[in-house]
Amino acid sequence: MFSPSSLDSHSDIVQLIDESKNFSTSINDFLHKVKLNGAGLDYHIVSVFGSQSTGKSTLLNALFNTDFDVMSEIKRQQTTKGIWMARAQTSSRLLKQPSPDGEEASSEEDTTTDQESKILVMDVEGTDGRERGDDQDFERKSALFALATSEVIIINIWEHQVGLYQGANMALLKTVFEVNLSLFKDHQSKSLILFVIRDHIGVTPLSNLSNTLTADLNRIWESLSKPADMVDPKLDEFFDLQFTALPHKILQPEQFSSGTSNLGTRFTDPDNSEYVFKKKYHRNVPIDGWSFYAGNVWQQIELNKDLDLPTQQILVARFRCDEIANQSWDLFEQELLELKKHIDAKLQSDKEIDENFLTVGNLIKHTRSSAMLVFDEFASKYAKAVYETKRKELLSRIDSELINIYKNHLTKLLKLSLVRFETKFAENLSKNLGFLVSIDSSELTTKEFFLSNANNASADDGVFVFDDEFTTLDEEINKIKAIRRNNEISKIISRAMKKIKPVLSEKIKDVFKNPNEDTWDRIYDEFNSISQMALSRMNSSTITCDTGVIDFGVGAYVEDNQKGVLEFKKQAWINFEKIIKGDVCRPENVLNRLLERFDELFRFDENGAPIVWKPSDNIEAVYLKAKNNALLLLPIFCEAKLKDGTRITPGVSIAEEEEDNLKNERDFNDFDLFEIEKRPFSAILTDKQKEEISNKFKKQCDLLYIESKRSTIQSITQ
Ligand code: GDP
Ligand code: MG
Repeated sequence: MFSPSSLDSHSDIVQLIDESKNFSTSINDFLHKVKLNGAGLDYHIVSVFGSQSTGKSTLLNALFNTDFDVMSEIKRQQTTKGIWMARAQTSSRLLKQPSPDGEEASSEEDTTTDQESKILVMDVEGTDGRERGDDQDFERKSALFALATSEVIIINIWEHQVGLYQGANMALLKTVFEVNLSLFKDHQSKSLILFVIRDHIGVTPLSNLSNTLTADLNRIWESLSKPADMVDPKLDEFFDLQFTALPHKILQPEQFSSGTSNLGTRFTDPDNSEYVFKKKYHRNVPIDGWSFYAGNVWQQIELNKDLDLPTQQILVARFRCDEIANQSWDLFEQELLELKKHIDAKLQSDKEIDENFLTVGNLIKHTRSSAMLVFDEFASKYAKAVYETKRKELLSRIDSELINIYKNHLTKLLKLSLVRFETKFAENLSKNLGFLVSIDSSELTTKEFFLSNANNASADDGVFVFDDEFTTLDEEINKIKAIRRNNEISKIISRAMKKIKPVLSEKIKDVFKNPNEDTWDRIYDEFNSISQMALSRMNSSTITCDTGVIDFGVGAYVEDNQKGVLEFKKQAWINFEKIIKGDVCRPENVLNRLLERFDELFRFDENGAPIVWKPSDNIEAVYLKAKNNALLLLPIFCEAKLKDGTRITPGVSIAEEEEDNLKNERDFNDFDLFEIEKRPFSAILTDKQKEEISNKFKKQCDLLYIESKRSTIQSITQ
């Protein structure tokens, strides 16, 4: 004997709406219990309609292996009250053939595993509930509710009721159609009506029965008063129809069993041509919002308000997206706390700072994305517009918390990058990579370091930008580079100066050994050729640049190189001036030079042998000649003038000191430029100095002359 209670069903069941028309508050618990709470949109709802005691619950139990109450054969009183919901059980079991003795498979034999069916089944109280008397209200309301929520509506009907237009079922159908018209004016959702003709004897083929039913349905449809704003709505715009028949369960148990098994595949096998769960039937309410949605729908129905399903969908979307956003926010706050703790801890230890930056960056990104991931997973299934709005809201809330952390992170990253730049540069230099390669590769690796870390922490959708910081980094690096380049140019120049100074000094001294009218021409030539050579040497050590300007090989711009060349010239002239005015043409040296010349002429003969004066010698004449001759040299020392009368003038300004970095590199120790009065380069000695030299010279000459005179007198007296 069939006894549904003997089924080993682990079905869980919930009374959605009780006999007092109250909507259950434990739907979410139920969904949780039957493990459907995370199913998103991947679930289906099927409900059954039909007259009282037509075997509806029996059918559902047989089809879905549920455990709905079935009227006992003996008492014959209404069992299903209100609306119940259960999750369909293992679909494979539905396909099982019954045992030969006609009994249901026992639990011991059942080895099938739970297929995690995604079907929720609603058993609706019989429509002509005699216990309710003529309470048409619940009938109408439950029909509305089932339509608003179900994808498939099974209409259970006895074979002998087919064609009885006046039958209770037809009255129900009229109600169903009517409420449907008011529900789905916009044709947004279609539903499937599946007629299950019970106690099918087999004399009348199913096709005849379905034709009769279809004709009846169309007749009912025609008779409906349609909303005025609808232009001749057609039945098939709102409903798809399917028909099936089942033999008498008690009289033909085996056929009934195989019939339900076959019918079951329409619910479980998407490859079945009559598969019932088409996408278009889905109400598109994610399961976690279903309780809210269904509750609202029921409330509207109860209040006899117009049921506007699209609005209900928006409402549930708002409600659930808010809930999900709050959950995501809570999660975010926890993560944020962790992030802050992490940053504080890292700030305290400054070891392995690079590593820390990576972890902080990753954490910032993670903190943002993990909250959003949760939100997206659940909220994305709701009405797109609502989801997107709520997403923006949540994200901007999260970002406003994270942006400061991110900006701080960038500031630290910027500082660290600059430090890294300097260290890398020093490292590269110590590896003898050369100035240009060293600085360029340090810049490259520093920028890569910054970008990868900034990117690492930044959000994928470009909310956290770092353009400003990167620009600052670039500017700072350029500043450092400019200083370094200038320093490098200065170093190159001062190295060159160190080399040319002794050579220049030697050459000048050499020329001054024999001063004459083209002394300055020779000196000027020497100076020019030595400095030109030094310049070209600097240039030849590097790639000659197209602009024709000396390239110092430090990656400087043309202007920097030009500045360097000017500085080089300036330094060369300064050194030149130092040698001339600070050494060779210093008054005492000039005096010595004159005395030497006087000596050469007065005390030595043409062969360079010392003259021994005889009393007969005209000492005075020789003395005067030597003296005048030596004095002729003095003007040469006084002014740097070429033979053609041109005064030697530096091509660059050497008097003024510019505020630049090159200045620091200069070595003024051995000669202070400011000792030299502000006179043109060519003005070597002042008139006063000239006069002093001349006087001193004459005095010394006189002494020498007197001495010589005395020596002859002595030689006579001896
Ligand atoms: P419901 O009120 O429509 O849910 O009907 P039930 O499933 O509770 O069944 C009512 C009675 O009909 C029970 O006593 C069942 O044993 C009986 N019944 C179930 N299936 C069939 C069937 O296929 N044919 C007939 N004649 N009776 C059935
Ligand atoms: Mg029932």
